[in-house]
Formats: sequence, C-alpha cells, structure tokens
Amino acid sequence: MRAFNFCAGPAALPTAVLNRAQSELPDWHSTGMSIMEMSHRSKDFVGAADKAEADLRSLLGIPSNYKVLFLQGGATLQFSAVPLNLLGAGQTADYIDTGIWAQGAIKEAQRYGNVNIAATSGADHYHHVPAQSTWNLTPDAAYVHYTPNETIGGLQYDFIPEVEAPLVADFSSSILSEPLDVSKFGLIYAGAQKNIGPAGLTLVIVREDLIGKAQSTIPSLLDYAKQANSGSMINTPPTFGWYLAGLVFEWLIEQGGLTAMQKLNQEKATLLYDYIDRSGFYANPINPANRSKMNVPFTLADSSLEKAFLAESTAAGLLNLAGHRSVGGMRASLYNAVPLEAVQALVAFMQDFAKRNG
Ligand SMILES: *Cc1c(COP(=O)(O)O)cnc(C)c1O
Repeated sequence: MRAFNFCAGPAALPTAVLNRAQSELPDWHSTGMSIMEMSHRSKDFVGAADKAEADLRSLLGIPSNYKVLFLQGGATLQFSAVPLNLLGAGQTADYIDTGIWAQGAIKEAQRYGNVNIAATSGADHYHHVPAQSTWNLTPDAAYVHYTPNETIGGLQYDFIPEVEAPLVADFSSSILSEPLDVSKFGLIYAGAQKNIGPAGLTLVIVREDLIGKAQSTIPSLLDYAKQANSGSMINTPPTFGWYLAGLVFEWLIEQGGLTAMQKLNQEKATLLYDYIDRSGFYANPINPANRSKMNVPFTLADSSLEKAFLAESTAAGLLNLAGHRSVGGMRASLYNAVPLEAVQALVAFMQDFAKRNG
C-alpha cells in the first residue's frame, strides 16, 4: 500500500504515473524492450523525448525563442553552469540571498567571476523575501539570480522580480506548481526530483540570445549552445528520467494543467498553514506573504516531542516529515503529486497529537 509521502526530494510521484511506467516497463510500445534499454538516438526514444518537450512547452507556454535542455548534474551543477555560460570576464552577476539554496548558487558563482549580493534577508533568519525596492542592483549586470522557492527554509517569492538584466531562477522546488510567464526570464533551471520526475534529470529553459557566450574553458557538456545544438544529446542523456518526466507532463495535462495544480496547491497549503496558526501547539515563522506553498516547515511547542511526533506520524503512514538536517524541526512538502487527502490526514494527525501532548 502506498503511504502519504511528504519528502522534500526525491519526492512523491503520482501513483498513476508509476503504475503506467510499471505496465509498460518490460516491453515499451511493443518494441520488445524497455525504454531504458534502447539507443537514445533511436526513432522510438527520440519520439518519446520530443513528445515530453512538446508537452512541457504547452504546460508552461514556453515561447519559441527559448531552448529546453534535458541535462544531468542536478540544480547544483547549474550553480556552476550559469556563471560559466553567462558571466563574461569583467562582468558582475547580482544574486539575491534568501537562504541555503541561494547561498549554494552564490558560493559556486564566486569561483568564476564577480558576484554582488544585491539583497539578503539573513538579518531576520530568512523569514521574509527582501522587497525589490531594497535591492542594490549592478548597472549592466550579466544577470540577476534568485531562488523563487527556498526548499529548506520554506520561503517563497510572491512576485517575479522586474529587472533589466536577464533574470535567472532556480525553480527546483516550485516549477510546474502554478502557471508561469516564462517570457519574464532569461533562464530557468530545476532539478527534476522535487516536482518533475526522478533524480538524475535537470531541466534548463534558456532564451536563445543568451547562449553561445560561454567562457572558453567551459566543459562541453555544460555549454548551453552545444547542448542546444545537439538536442541535449552530446552524450547519453538520462533516458529513463526524461521518459518518466514525459509521463508526469501527460499526467499534469490530464489534471487540467498548471491552473488546476495552482488551485489544488493553494488549497493544500491553506489547509495546513491555517491549522498551524490556530493550533497554539505548532508554529511556522515565515512572513505570511512569503510562506512556501510547496514546503511547510513547522516546529512543535516542545521540541522534546519531535521524536515521538516522527515515530507516530510514520506509523500512521505519514512519511518523511523530519525537517532538513541543517535546521531540524518538521517539514511537510506538498508538491503536485501529494494529494489533498494527504494534507487532510496530516492535519488530523497533528490535531490528535496536539490534543494528547498539549
Ligand atoms: C534540491 C534543490 C537544489 C539541489 O538540487 P540537486 O538536484 O540535488 O543538485 C537546489 N536548489 C533548490 C531550490 C532545491 O530545492
């Protein structure tokens, strides 16, 4: 039996997608082999790969002057790939520091060029997103990088920054959770294992005029121009992840697309935050306007009860509620594949636990 899985990543996948993958695993579309066992250059695989890209383009409304790349290395490799491709000699890139993942991107970029931290909310422990009016942007910056959803802190932007330089965003934990105006961005990247598919696949959506300017020593596999020119197949791409992401895109279209997901994700998040706020037992420290709809960290009134909370929630079939090892506490991740019933069951459990321990 499948439990309710609140893991931050690798995260829950839709049961319907797993069942379909299982049914077509040994003999994909009467080819006599699984999709994992065929050449990535075969007509069959390229057909499935192209269909996945077309479905993603339709879900997000990706304009035709953007390339979509299906890469490896996770969001973390993009922390390097972005400056190696976009940050020219003598140029400066602006970064907004909103927590652990933004800092990961900053640290890596600092190895390749000038980085200006244009704003940080570190002074209040990253409990709010710095208002854009306070950002100290560089004139003629190569790009502005931000982290729309801080997966560990549970902090989410409630606006898309309006900047002159190309806007670069690490959408690892919130891509496909709601409609997005891709035309506002120069580059979007996301590791797949939160809201797209299995670990091992990384999506990059990049505006065409930004590619082809990479630093000369860049590894070919990290060069967006080379990847775009070869259809993300300079070498063997992560074929199974690409295929499974394609099944998730089809599932999202069947659910009604990103507008339907937005409505459901809002409902899930509201249910949980409203309960936390009125419980008097649980707490979430984030400025309400910046509370993440995807990752909900919370603490218990008495932290010595955490062990019991985790043991009892696990026994009740509510899995992976421990917070990130760097911050502790609890965290419930509510990605697209987590159904409303999972959140209802979580709130019912939390109520009962608070009653017994309050
Ligand atoms: C998980 C995550 C990362 C790291 O992703 P990897 O695929 O493990 O490299 C980076 N940024 C954000 C926002 C994340 O949620």
